[in-house]
Amino acid sequence: MKNAVTFLGLGAMGYPMACNLSNAGYEVKVWNRTTSRAEEHVAACGSEAVNIEDAANAEIIFSCLPTSQQVENLAEKLLSYLKPGTVWVDCTSGDPAASRQIAAKLAAAGVEFLDAPVSGGTDGAAAGTLTIMVGGNNGAFERVKPLLEAMGKKIIHVGPVGSAHALKAVNNTLFAVNLWAAGEGLAALVKQGVDPRVALDVINASTGRSNATENIIPQRVVTRAWPHSFKLGLLTKDVGIGMKVLDGADLPAPLLRITYEVYQMAKREIGPDADHAEALKLIERWAGTEIA
Ligand code: NDP
Repeated sequence: MKNAVTFLGLGAMGYPMACNLSNAGYEVKVWNRTTSRAEEHVAACGSEAVNIEDAANAEIIFSCLPTSQQVENLAEKLLSYLKPGTVWVDCTSGDPAASRQIAAKLAAAGVEFLDAPVSGGTDGAAAGTLTIMVGGNNGAFERVKPLLEAMGKKIIHVGPVGSAHALKAVNNTLFAVNLWAAGEGLAALVKQGVDPRVALDVINASTGRSNATENIIPQRVVTRAWPHSFKLGLLTKDVGIGMKVLDGADLPAPLLRITYEVYQMAKREIGPDADHAEALKLIERWAGTEIA
């Protein structure tokens, strides 16, 4: 058995990520707000469910929660139980400034904090093929790298604490641009009699292609399958963090800023718990037609 690790947050991403750690031979303790989910994980993945105090007793702690706010709250709860020398690896798509604050608080307890957001969706999490970008101390990064390799394929050290959360927010803002822009373009083509499958076939062999046109729209929108794997509220949260990154750079960025407004509108109209691809239902509503 390899060293003991804790995983906090068994959501759509955390559940399969923690399972891959367990499958790689690590002794994995899991904690989840809703305990039935942790019990399910124990039965399916051979982990051990622990209470929040016991969760602190590990060499490496992973968290994968909706936002940095929940990470901060848990760090606060665990603070007096944490052992010096522990590394806390936060896989949440978090906020760079909040992460720097959490890192400073944990450092006072001798705990190293790394921001390690992931990309690749629930399929990538299940397959262990995530891209994992990491911010923070290089020595701590080297210590946790073998564990990250159990969950991801491309593992990159980006820079100091917060830098990986900034990069992840920009990545997801670009994805949000591509998804919405493709939705607008396809709705216009459908209204003019073009089959969206034909349009996507051409676009995906041309310069307009993106993950949205290659995967998300053909698999979720055109099929009307609408699987739920990544909440619209979470993507909108990421674009919001992207706005803070822009603020920090003090540069004009009109396209990215309007994207935030667009997703705020979609979240309000379609609902935060809808899948992110369902944002395009708003475009369909405006167009009076389905992208199908
Ligand atoms: P989910 O909504 O599926 O899961 C959220 C997890 O956080 C659950 O374990 C939930 O517990 C827990 N949680 C929620 N609120 C609290 C709270 N107040 N206190 C303690 N625990 C809480 O989210 P995802 O797994 O989809 O996303 C997690 C992170 O990963 C987000 O930052 C997201 O942006 C990012 N991400 C998501 C991807 C995806 O495709 N889904 C892809 C890449 C990154 P409970 O079971 O009790 O609700």
